[in-house]
Amino acid sequence: MSSAIGIDLGGTKLLGILVDERGSPLARRERPTCACDGPDVLVGSIAALARELAEEARAAGRPPRGVGVGAPGPLDPRTGVVYAMPNLGEDYVRFPLRERLTRALPELPVAVENDANAAIQGEVWTGAAKGCEDAILLTLGTGVGGGIVAAGRMIRGARGAGAELGHVIVEPDGPPCGCGGRGCLEQYASGTAIARLAAEALARRREGALAQLAAPSAQDVVRAARAGDELALAVIDRGARALGTALASIVHVLNPELVLIGGGFGSAAWDLLEPSTAAEMKSRTFVASWEGLKLARAALGSDAGAIGAARSVI
Ligand SMILES: [Zn+2]
Repeated sequence: MSSAIGIDLGGTKLLGILVDERGSPLARRERPTCACDGPDVLVGSIAALARELAEEARAAGRPPRGVGVGAPGPLDPRTGVVYAMPNLGEDYVRFPLRERLTRALPELPVAVENDANAAIQGEVWTGAAKGCEDAILLTLGTGVGGGIVAAGRMIRGARGAGAELGHVIVEPDGPPCGCGGRGCLEQYASGTAIARLAAEALARRREGALAQLAAPSAQDVVRAARAGDELALAVIDRGARALGTALASIVHVLNPELVLIGGGFGSAAWDLLEPSTAAEMKSRTFVASWEGLKLARAALGSDAGAIGAARSVI
């Protein structure tokens, strides 16, 4: 009997999950992180969390096979170099994450994976995409992450920077994006974008429940939309239509059988997003592409990335 450690590196926290060989969680730990602390502290925190979970695994008679880390940026899983992690700051351009972690954790094999790729790996292993050969996942959170499984294989591209579905363009002249382009899906359907769209709408019209808040977060917008606030509903609908438009392009390319929506904002707003997203996607695609296509909420929630990262070392 063995186990594996998966760690999801987020903008504000580390989530570590110890799983058995089948992906069932045995232990779960969270630790706050701050990009402001710099790479040395971050690598040290990841290593400390991995060591803690490894000790727990050995105590339970299930020595860990290694640690997989899901990181929020495009990376090459073969070299373990992260190209950039824009939400963690400038210190992480071409950052040798696996090498740094291997030095800090000589006793454990280390694998690194893009966080959204890890998340779809988790969903295929034990979640909503179990047994699926052609599935995609969009995580709507601070940014928009993407994961693709086609013909049963993870699609990462020539240098590991593929499957960046958050950067499918929905408005060629839209707002600038961290990728260097403009009008990417991420600028309309991430939690960050929803908060920005709400602030822009409020600057034009200050009435209703949302208008009472100085700087509404995406969670505030979801809450106000559930209470029937028209401005909040319109902002979420804008995000949903951008999501459906981007999905139309993705569906034309990949013809998936399953589209999963996850991430903090995506999971919280799923039922609000679904109708307009589905309608927009259907209106822009061949009947053959969406007939039989299932649009669903990701099942593992915020655990998907850590569980999928653990899969990388099993
Ligand atoms: Zn972009």
